[in-house]
Amino acid sequence: MIDTIRIAIQKSGRLSEDSLKLIKECGIRFDNGGGKLKTAATNFPAEILFLRDDDIPGYVEDGVAHLGIVGQNVSEETNKNVNTVHKLGFSKCRLSIGILREQNYEGVQDLDGKSIATTYPRLLGEYLKAHQVQANIHEISGSVEIAPSIGLADAVCDIVSSGSTLLSNGLKEVETIFRSEAVMIANKNLPAPQQALLDQLLFRIQSVQEAKNNKYILLNCPNESVDNIIKFLPGMRSPTVLPLAQAGWSSLHSVINENDFWENIEKIRQAGAEGILVIPIEKMIL
Ligand code: ATP
Ligand code: ZN
Repeated sequence: MIDTIRIAIQKSGRLSEDSLKLIKECGIRFDNGGGKLKTAATNFPAEILFLRDDDIPGYVEDGVAHLGIVGQNVSEETNKNVNTVHKLGFSKCRLSIGILREQNYEGVQDLDGKSIATTYPRLLGEYLKAHQVQANIHEISGSVEIAPSIGLADAVCDIVSSGSTLLSNGLKEVETIFRSEAVMIANKNLPAPQQALLDQLLFRIQSVQEAKNNKYILLNCPNESVDNIIKFLPGMRSPTVLPLAQAGWSSLHSVINENDFWENIEKIRQAGAEGILVIPIEKMIL
């Protein structure tokens, strides 16, 4: 039997689409039609398991799945014995405390003696302990944000991304207790063949992430500007410089980082570049 790696992802929810996209960008093809619980990849020794996100850390700990993609919030809250092997950069959100908008709030001590509804009792408990606040944690399984308006609790501790859900329930965000993004978790005792497959996967994920952080750039410039422009475009080893058909001009090709893109583009223009083309990169192997 061929050794395969079993990867658990969320069946349907906010992590599902990006998890599937990442696996596909790693060149792994599979048929996920028909709402199946499990599917085998056609061109990589992998099986994809579709599960509720809360169950994924437990399955990875038990080895039912070798790998899983979950939010750090769920991974930390479930507190299973797994390795976090890579941050994936999507499903960014935060776990925050919200109170009714009209209530006064000076600081975390104002939560003393209050009741807080949450589906994250562990993370909230740790936060309150660290801040020496005695509050009553009211664990509920969903629809946390309506708890204050129906008198079930004084405050909530829930996942926030834009804050619009809090606002529409008459709440205001007063403390952020945890910042989260999707991560890849792995079983702590992976057999050697699965460890080798994980290493291959991580290499592919890094190539995809690296590519997203960079763009391919082509530009024209007078020959005497080349040295100046290269200072802002170090490229992977060094830029490619080719002569243009027009005498005295060059074409320069390089890679530019997304983070300081606009600042560097401005400097390159001032240094004499024109006809600048910027093109997305699909994969980047360093
Ligand atoms: P399941 O049915 O699988 O238990 P769920 O309802 O618990 O799903 P989702 O709402 O799909 O979970 O959220 C999954 C994860 O996506 C969360 O644990 C969190 O990490 C992240 N997430 C939640 N809300 C947002 C948001 N508004 N923006 C970005 N990421 C979010
Ligand atoms: Zn869930």
